[in-house]
Amino acid sequence: MSKEKETNTKITKSKKGVSKMMYFTTPIYYVNDAPHIGHVFTTVNADFLTRFYKSLGYDTYFLTGTDEHGQKIAKAAQQANKTPREFTDTIVPKFFDVLNKMHIEINHFIRTTDPEHEALVQKWFQKFYDNGDIYKGKYKGKYCVDCEGYYGDDELLPGDLCPNHKKPVSVMEEETYFFKLSKYEFYVKELFAKKDFILPEKYKGEAHQRLSQGLKDVSISRKSTDWGVKVPFDKEHVVWVWFDALINYISGLQGKEQYWPATHILGKDIFWFHAVLWPAMLKAMNYEPPRFFVHGWWTTNGTKMSKSLNNFIPPETLTKYGVDEARYFLLRQMPCGEDSDFNSKFFEERYLELSNTVGNLINRVAIIAQKNYIDLTKDYPIEKSIQIEIDKTIKEVKDDLDSFKVQGAIMKIMSLGQFLNKYTNDTEPWKLVKTNKEKASVVVYNLVLGINLLTLLLEPCMPEKMKEARKIFRFKAEKITDIYILSTKKIKPEKVLEIEPKILFPMIMKFEF
Ligand SMILES: [Zn+2]
Repeated sequence: MSKEKETNTKITKSKKGVSKMMYFTTPIYYVNDAPHIGHVFTTVNADFLTRFYKSLGYDTYFLTGTDEHGQKIAKAAQQANKTPREFTDTIVPKFFDVLNKMHIEINHFIRTTDPEHEALVQKWFQKFYDNGDIYKGKYKGKYCVDCEGYYGDDELLPGDLCPNHKKPVSVMEEETYFFKLSKYEFYVKELFAKKDFILPEKYKGEAHQRLSQGLKDVSISRKSTDWGVKVPFDKEHVVWVWFDALINYISGLQGKEQYWPATHILGKDIFWFHAVLWPAMLKAMNYEPPRFFVHGWWTTNGTKMSKSLNNFIPPETLTKYGVDEARYFLLRQMPCGEDSDFNSKFFEERYLELSNTVGNLINRVAIIAQKNYIDLTKDYPIEKSIQIEIDKTIKEVKDDLDSFKVQGAIMKIMSLGQFLNKYTNDTEPWKLVKTNKEKASVVVYNLVLGINLLTLLLEPCMPEKMKEARKIFRFKAEKITDIYILSTKKIKPEKVLEIEPKILFPMIMKFEF
């Protein structure tokens, strides 16, 4: 492990000993949207990483939540004949519900309407002002109500259309507070030059170009709406929704700031403000910079998903063939730094992979062990080839995860499954048991050990399904580190007393979404 890759982990000493910390976040979700594949994907990625590092012995914190302020929400609430808070109260449970349904385990759910969050936003705003990072000025520009942001002439589409919404923007002039982003231009450029600031590196490209044109101060307050956090020293203004929202990554820690800095997981469309404005704000408050893991977009049958096309895949469709099966599909399908397509054919391929490589292996080994009364309470030698394969898998998977190569990590875990299948075919324990039971026992013992690790490695991706798998052998280990010591590569096999074979991924005749 290179030192560079470890920049976002901290070592802390607690009574229990020394443990490394990791803090993962998703963007907080804007509540004028119903949850769909985009939200699910980002959040499942964060959940997967959190669970994995936890399994490797890290002390982790995972935050997600909802972004509830701004003109857009106020408008939507008005249309629904509700106050903004009443309106957001009806939407937030939908996001909560998706977390439960998708087997996502968080440490805290932040709402930007939480009083603690609002208080921290005001505290930061005041401090920026006191330190001279904020000043009052006039802003005139072309404004998109749906984006809640201004656009420069070079950013607009022909006919002064918003590049996101393809709708006309309006000219607005308002008195506003500015954040001195220009003051932090050099600092932000330095961060962009760092190797692990944004991963994968390819997403830096576009931002780089914008950066090279220099950073202008940003308007960070609005008089046009009152649905937001009031500027503490000027009640006519509310804090701009983006500025307010970014601070959730600190307020959401609920005082446990030892977890900072965060690894922010987000889609490629929203990382400009995250990667430029947020680190500048943090620098102004004397916080270390975070790190960004950026992912691509999903298409469906080759078409981009969008609000206007109304073709976002909802969670109900996504989980038609099982929740963990959907999690596996999402994490395994999208290559690092690319877009990916959701369709029945790809889903079927992934499902068959699970059924052939994982389901069959486990069922086969369980049946051989049970039928032949293999004594798995004895200490047999660990086969060298198995030890080597396990060492290699764990090292490579960890390296991949440190650089947000989720697909790569999962493929490497599945390679361990393929290796165990091949080992079974090569050693033919069902035949061997008839001529040399001792030797067959060693083979089965090693296979069960391999399955113990394989299912632990897959658990962050498919938490419930792998619990089912582990019940077949009554495995007790809860973390990878319970049976594998990373520093010494020592494996501590578990004794297996009882086996109950089970089909984990039953045959499905036709996949259709
Ligand atoms: Zn727009």
